Amino acid sequence: MTPLSFEFYPPKTDEQRAQLDRSVQKLKPHSPEFMSVTFGAGGSTLSHTPETVQRLRGEHGVDGVPHLTCVGGSREEIRSLLKLYRALGCSRIIALRGDMPSGMIGQGDLRYANELVELIRAEHGDHFQVTVAAYPETHPQADDAHVDLANFERKVKAGAHNAITQYFYNSDAYFHFIDDVRKRGIDIPIIPGIMPISNFTQLRRFSEACGAEIPRWIGQRMRAHGDDAEAIREFAADLVATLCRRLVDGGAPALHFYTLNMARPTQAILQRLA
Ligand code: FAD
Repeated sequence: MTPLSFEFYPPKTDEQRAQLDRSVQKLKPHSPEFMSVTFGAGGSTLSHTPETVQRLRGEHGVDGVPHLTCVGGSREEIRSLLKLYRALGCSRIIALRGDMPSGMIGQGDLRYANELVELIRAEHGDHFQVTVAAYPETHPQADDAHVDLANFERKVKAGAHNAITQYFYNSDAYFHFIDDVRKRGIDIPIIPGIMPISNFTQLRRFSEACGAEIPRWIGQRMRAHGDDAEAIREFAADLVATLCRRLVDGGAPALHFYTLNMARPTQAILQRLA
């Protein structure tokens, strides 16, 4: 069975908390290796992320893993969060640069994720298994794919143990990325990030911002289904399940699902993979 992990954002209201609890309960039977909680860059979810990690670890009994971004934060803030996560029993961490929310300014002490990985490894040695982000379709701010690969290599040299990718819908992007990375002598596991499709309009907007390509044929099929929500759901689940199957058959070591705190779209894919 392919190892799985699920990603959530930290809820801020009681209603969102109840939704997260329901989704966690539904996804837990799939025995994920861990469930991770995103962190708003610039400290916008400063207390919600640790709270949610604690809730996952305590009430739900799963390995709750924090994301930690460095942009906009001071070294001291990062140090105290690391201390807190250690105290909560965390042994994995997802280390990122992050993007400042629009309207917020401030550089912070660390500029890039490789500096965050360095800090974690310098101050905590092997305590945390450190995961970084990877971009099979190239990070949108990178000058070109080679520069981005070289920057990815910096994170690995700084001590990252593995990576999770930005989502993509074209398996070739992942396999070419793996080939390029291996040619550079990088041998850490690179886990594909999987984005189930639920709200296509929202996904298209988000994908433009984060540099993930949605192939034209997918958009055309979605459009052809019009308002037929059931047909859209079936098509989306079949499509992403096929992608997952291709990735696993081609050697992907695990699958990481961006759940957006909803269980159903991820479950529909996992049912097809079972
Ligand atoms: P970096 O690796 O620092 O790269 C950012 C850009 O700078 C790239 O273009 C890179 O080529 C370039 N670069 C890197 N290092 C250097 C260097 N030393 N010198 C010059 N240029 C450099 N965002 C959040 O805000 N919160 C989250 O919880 C979160 N979770 C995520 C989880 C995953 C699995 C992924 C894939 C992304 C996540 N993101 C999250 C989004 C992420 O923060 C953004 O994609 C961000 O723009 C880049 O973060 P990074 O860690 O990849 O940055």
